[in-house]
Amino acid sequence: MPGARLSRRLEALRAEYEAAKASLGEVGFTCEGSLVERYTSCHNPNCRCADPAERHGPYWQLSWKEGGRTVSRIISAEEAELYREWVANRHRLEEVLTEMRRISRQAAEQIAADTGHPFQGPARPRRSRSSGV
Ligand SMILES: [Zn+2]
Repeated sequence: MPGARLSRRLEALRAEYEAAKASLGEVGFTCEGSLVERYTSCHNPNCRCADPAERHGPYWQLSWKEGGRTVSRIISAEEAELYREWVANRHRLEEVLTEMRRISRQAAEQIAADTGHPFQGPARPRRSRSSGV
């Protein structure tokens, strides 16, 4: 019976969705942007940093998009430790949201298929993953 098949499949998708939703509760504070470890040269030929292996650093740089351009700030090691975790949390958050969108899409497609109607919803959401640490 199509109805029974529909509800079993939907039940499975609903359980998957609930599990994804529950994992959101484990995600802590988040931070936009990405964190990069930098070593620099001061361009003084007599400084130790003239040797590429002896450059100054590490410096921690947090970069993010603002009004279409990339903004970067040098932050302290303490801040870097905090933001490293927050940036990782944001990646996790985005992963779970992507997963929830994927499951929802499957549910909509499943309902359409089982009721014999073409799926009329919007195109699949684009995957937007920013790279970075
Ligand atoms: Zn130097």
